[in-house]
Amino acid sequence: MTGVAAIVGAAGEGRRFGSPKQFALLAGRSVLEWSLAAFEAHPRVGEIVLVLPDEALGPRFAAAFAKVRAVVRGGVRRQDSVLAGFSRLDRHRTDIVLIHDGARPLVGDALIRRIIREAAVHGAALPALPVEDTVKEGADNRVVRTVDRSRLYRVQTPQGFTYEILEEAFRRAAEDGFTGTDDASLVERLGKPVALVEGDPQNIKITTLLDLKWAEEILHDANRARV
Ligand code: C5P
Repeated sequence: MTGVAAIVGAAGEGRRFGSPKQFALLAGRSVLEWSLAAFEAHPRVGEIVLVLPDEALGPRFAAAFAKVRAVVRGGVRRQDSVLAGFSRLDRHRTDIVLIHDGARPLVGDALIRRIIREAAVHGAALPALPVEDTVKEGADNRVVRTVDRSRLYRVQTPQGFTYEILEEAFRRAAEDGFTGTDDASLVERLGKPVALVEGDPQNIKITTLLDLKWAEEILHDANRARV
């Protein structure tokens, strides 16, 4: 049986939102609680490490979610927050590590399952969706060129890795002073393969108030479909 741990990063300041978006209310509970609930309910996930900002630290999430085994203080960069979470995992018990943005509350069971499976096969896997809009490169408010979108993807979380690959990726990033905007970029620079797995259009990251409204709609529709 594969030991699967999830690190949920929720230590961002949410500058674009005005206040930390992971604590915004969405249909009766916080965005972060929705995210935690998805991993809590997933039969393949054994434990969750939650990364929080200083002011949100405390026992309430561990009390509410049985799989939350550790709550740790985040760092300045997203990468520092994830590393703080990673350092709390037990290497003997953990085969696969899932890293998830606390600000993605609508992550589904099937996507989590796909990522665990593909990470176990390839060593690293992430959810991705093709870019549908035409993409331009620009500078000084002028188009420099049109980019070939057929090879471009928008990537989501959870991103999944074997414990060993992630450990090496963090070590090498620290040695080289490298900062990535996602976790897979630390693995890519090792020259190791990262599998592109079909993402979920509903697995949006809450960045603006509009995203929150959209998430409410999606939940509303899902509830209506159930009755
Ligand atoms: O800022 P961004 O949208 O990329 O953040 C993605 C996720 O990473 C959010 O859930 C945020 O709370 C988390 N994060 C973190 N520590 C940071 C920055 C972001 O845990 N220093």
